[in-house]
Amino acid sequence: MDAVFRGATNYRTRVMPISRHKTRPVKVRNLVIGGDSPISIQSMTNVPLSNVEGTIAQITRLVEAGAELVRIAVVNEDALTHLREVRECIDTPLSADIHFNYKLALGAIESGIDKIRINPGNIGNPEHVRDVVRLAKERAVPIRIGVNGGSLDKKRYPELTAEALSHSALDHVRILEDYGFEDIVVSIKTSDLHMTIEANTLFAKERNYPLHIGLTEAGYGTSCIVQSAVLIGHLLLLGLGDTIRVSMTGDPVEEVRIARKILDALGVRPLPVRIISCPTCGRTDPEINLEKIACEVENALSEEFSDVLVKLRKQLVVAVMGCEVNGPGEASHADVGVAGARSGNYLLFAGGRKIRTISRREIVAAISDEVRMLVESWNSSS
Ligand code: SF4
Repeated sequence: MDAVFRGATNYRTRVMPISRHKTRPVKVRNLVIGGDSPISIQSMTNVPLSNVEGTIAQITRLVEAGAELVRIAVVNEDALTHLREVRECIDTPLSADIHFNYKLALGAIESGIDKIRINPGNIGNPEHVRDVVRLAKERAVPIRIGVNGGSLDKKRYPELTAEALSHSALDHVRILEDYGFEDIVVSIKTSDLHMTIEANTLFAKERNYPLHIGLTEAGYGTSCIVQSAVLIGHLLLLGLGDTIRVSMTGDPVEEVRIARKILDALGVRPLPVRIISCPTCGRTDPEINLEKIACEVENALSEEFSDVLVKLRKQLVVAVMGCEVNGPGEASHADVGVAGARSGNYLLFAGGRKIRTISRREIVAAISDEVRMLVESWNSSS
C-alpha cells in the first residue's frame, strides 16, 4: 500500500487500502515506476519540439503542477537536436515518444532521454530492434510499449477486443524479452472504459511489468475528467497501475491537476490541502459566493502551507460550509472550518471546537490564521 498522510486532528481522511499488483520496479532517471514506489503522474508536451523555449516552459509548468515524468513526441531527425537542447535545461525524467523509426529511438537515447516509448513489433527489421535494445540496455533506458485501440495491428487482430489488446502487448513484450530486456513499462489504452479495464486485467495476469494507465482520446472537459477518474480509479482500486496519465484535449497542465485530484480522492497520494465545501442551497447566505471563497481558501492555504505539510506528511482538511444546518458538523470534523450563521456571520471552528464568530469578509484571513497556529503546533511536535 502507498504511504499516506494522515494528520487531520479530527477529520480522518478515508483511506481505501489498496493492495497493489506486485510489479517490477523500473528506474527512469530519479523516478521509479512500479514496485513499492508511489503511483506517479505523467503528462506530455503539446508544443512543437522545434519551439525549444516553449517546450522547456511547458515542461516547467507541468513539473510545477506535479508531473514527475514528461513525454515529448520526437517526429524527425531535426527534433533530436532540439531534444538535446531541452535535455540540457531539464532535470525531470523525460520520455521520447517514437513511432516506427529505430534511428529516432537510437538518437533519442544518445540525446540523453530517460525512457523511450516505441513498440518493437513496429520497427520491423530484427537487427534494428536489436540495436535499439542494445543501446537502451547500455544506457539503462527503459522502453514503454504502448498498445492503443486505434493503432492495433488489424492484420493480426482484425477485431478490437480486450484479448486482442492484451495479446498485442504480449507480442511486443516477448520481442524485448527475447533480447533479455526487462526494463519495460506497458500501457494498453482505448477510449472504451470497459475494454481498457479488461485488457489491463488480462495483461497483468501474464506479466508483472509496471502499467501506465489511462484512457486514450478521452475527449475534453468534464467528460474527459469523469471518464478518466472512473477508469484510473477503478484500475487502481483493483491494484493495477503504477503511473497515470489523464489524456485530455487542451493544456496538459490541466491533465496533471486532474491526475493529482484522482490520486487524492483515492487516498493513495493525498494532496496537502483538502477543501470540503457544501453544494449550497436556498439556505446559503445570499451575500456570499461560496465557490469563490472555497477557491480563495484553497489557493491561499496551498500557497502558504503546501511545502511544510508535505514535509510533515500531513493532510490539512478545511471545511467551507454555507449555513448552520449541516455546516457546524462538517466544520467541526475538519481541522479548521467555517459555517454560515445568522445575519451574515460565520462560525469559525478549529480542532473540533467553535472558536468565534466572524464576518464574511474575514473568512479567508481567519482560516489562514487558525491554520498557521495549527501547522506551527504540528511543526513543533514533529
Ligand atoms: S450546508 Fe447549509 S447551505 Fe450548504 S448545502 Fe447544506 S443546508 Fe445548504
